[in-house]
Amino acid sequence: HQPPGRPGSPVELRTRYQHWIDGGWQPPVLGRYFENPTPVTGETFCEVARGTAEDIEAALDAAEAAAPAWGRTPPAERAQVLLRLADRIEQHLEALAVTETWDNGKPVREALAADLPLAVDHLRYFAGALRAQEGGLSQLDEDTVAYHFHEPLGVVGQIIPWNFPLLMAVWKLAPALAAGNTVVLKPAEQTPVSVLLLMELTADLLPPGVVNVVTGYGLEAGKPLASSPRVRKIAFTGETGTGRLIAQYAGPNLIPVSLELGGKSPNLFFADVAAERDSFYEKALEGFAMFALNQGEVCTCPSRALIHSAIYDRFLGDGLERTALIRQGNPLDTDTMVGAQASREQLEKVLSYLEIGRAEGAKVLAGGERAELGGELSGGYYVTPTVFEGDNRMRIFQEEIFGPVLAVTRFDTFEDAVELANDTPYGLGAGVWTRDGSTAYRAGRAIQAGRVWTNSYHLYPAHAAFGGYKDSGIGRETHKMLLEHYQQTKNLLVSYSDRPM
Ligand code: NAD
Repeated sequence: HQPPGRPGSPVELRTRYQHWIDGGWQPPVLGRYFENPTPVTGETFCEVARGTAEDIEAALDAAEAAAPAWGRTPPAERAQVLLRLADRIEQHLEALAVTETWDNGKPVREALAADLPLAVDHLRYFAGALRAQEGGLSQLDEDTVAYHFHEPLGVVGQIIPWNFPLLMAVWKLAPALAAGNTVVLKPAEQTPVSVLLLMELTADLLPPGVVNVVTGYGLEAGKPLASSPRVRKIAFTGETGTGRLIAQYAGPNLIPVSLELGGKSPNLFFADVAAERDSFYEKALEGFAMFALNQGEVCTCPSRALIHSAIYDRFLGDGLERTALIRQGNPLDTDTMVGAQASREQLEKVLSYLEIGRAEGAKVLAGGERAELGGELSGGYYVTPTVFEGDNRMRIFQEEIFGPVLAVTRFDTFEDAVELANDTPYGLGAGVWTRDGSTAYRAGRAIQAGRVWTNSYHLYPAHAAFGGYKDSGIGRETHKMLLEHYQQTKNLLVSYSDRPM
């Protein structure tokens, strides 16, 4: 069951994937594999190495052996490697995009328009950030100087989720490699293929052992990585519950842990949004409909729309019309806007929340069921974009569904809006839509979230810091500050005086 090849860029996926360790394929030590289905049709298309602690140790051996030389490689050369990786991705855009779609279920047009260009830009950004990084020097008195040097941490562990498999890998790899570290990365068991294809396509660019990919399940492969005393930092993206476990595993090793976790992000529409039916209003409607982007499988999914009472009926009505225009279908068709949920478990989780919403008394305004697309897609994992109207205390407003499901409610005052926005355990993203700069500023500052989009949503430039407040995590990703998050600071405090102390 191969995805259809496209002219100019045939995709020939393997039927069996092993680990990528020390610059090449390595069979799992215990010899076990698991089946990997495509969400597009529900059929298995390959088997993948089922990694264990033994494979993690082998990957750590390779990463440790490669660490000294990579860490000493001059910044300009390391930057050059990142630039070449970016170029190589661009040379294989279509193959990587189709692979991502086949493994994850996301629309290929989005993989081509967002996931891959963002990955490319991220590598180029960190190549540049590294070139521009400088140490520090403080003059403590006439004869005493404090120098600050950046040093790599050594071997770092990275564990990523299945919603943006390649992009999440690159978000983590680019700063870690730029900073001079070597990596053992564990992709999600649902979507291991695109990062393995990336390794295969770039085998000649990275010295062996600099990036090692061990596939497998969380408890079998992720836990030994996160608990290993051989890693100098662990970076994790995934669910909040898993993040708590990762922090426990790594705790005794006294290493930095960065956690990018779940969200229940509010999208606030103030009354002046509807002052005119102009292009700004149209843009706000687009912002409303963004809950369905990537099938809602985005940590920052704007899954709660909070709309001012004065415009509630009109704006919601127009928002529902906009939602109805979202094209769902075969993710490999280039006009499809919403594809398949990434796994059967995820499909079932989303469907269970549709039941929970109904049982709580929320009103279904759109969708609310599994999408039956028929034909070869009938075994795929499709959910119709769904809009519920309800109350912020309901579970569908409080818990991360990670599907194309929007929960809508109203507010009367600025204070109500901020209170509702902050009334979940999460604090990852938020959207604020208003024509008034002061309202935008005050709301943006008052919302407890690491990223507040103002009159925009779902933009992920490399040079803006991204991360969570509250249960959405610790630490940041993207932005040049990440270089320092992957480095030690060495201070040399030097006296140039001959006088007695
Ligand atoms: P998950 O926590 O189930 O899995 C994430 C990764 O952790 C996978 O590789 C998995 O195999 C591994 N894992 C699971 N249990 C583990 C354990 N006990 N020890 C070590 N590793 C373990 O998350 P998911 O379902 O793959 O991803 C969806 C979640 O990721 C959502 O909550 C979403 O909000 C979050 N997410 C956050 C961000 C962000 O930047 N904040 C970005 C994308 C996704």
